[in-house]
Amino acid sequence: MEVYRRPESRPWERIESKTIVAVAKKPRYVDVSNPSLSVQCPNCGLKTQRFLDHCRNDGYKLWPSSEMASAAFKAWRDADPRRADASRYDLELPAEPMDATIDYVARAHHLGIHLFPNSNYPFIICVGALFLALAAIPFDGSVRIGLLVIGGLIFLYGVVGWVLVEDVRMFPSGSPSTDGEVHH
Ligand SMILES: [Zn+2]
Repeated sequence: MEVYRRPESRPWERIESKTIVAVAKKPRYVDVSNPSLSVQCPNCGLKTQRFLDHCRNDGYKLWPSSEMASAAFKAWRDADPRRADASRYDLELPAEPMDATIDYVARAHHLGIHLFPNSNYPFIICVGALFLALAAIPFDGSVRIGLLVIGGLIFLYGVVGWVLVEDVRMFPSGSPSTDGEVHH
């Protein structure tokens, strides 16, 4: 069952696209260079939606018809790709999509919280631990020693790389400039 309809299949938009043909012949009705979605009502002076046929404050008729208003809105919206998400029921354009990614590392650094660095070393540590675990299996003595040495080397390499190399790189000497917060 289709629950979320794509924007272009919203029924009210289909109505708009029907009327645009007739009104598109008279583009002088809408100033597409004006980026505003709101307008000052000539009757009450309050800010209202520019592309609704009536002022939302006192019902003053801003457009000859609702169809005309929506067609004007569509012409206005199509004039600039940045207006694609605009709604004629809004007073302002939707905010530019901002970069919502948060630099947790920088944030933790600022707060004095110790994050372990994103790293592949934990996997290496696990591989080393695997060999160490295999060494616990009662194989032939030399095989166990070999596994122990290999596992131990890989394990140590992982630990050293993770804790000493990457961690130090991430938290260079001199604790971050925190406001007396404890560095864990
Ligand atoms: Zn008004």
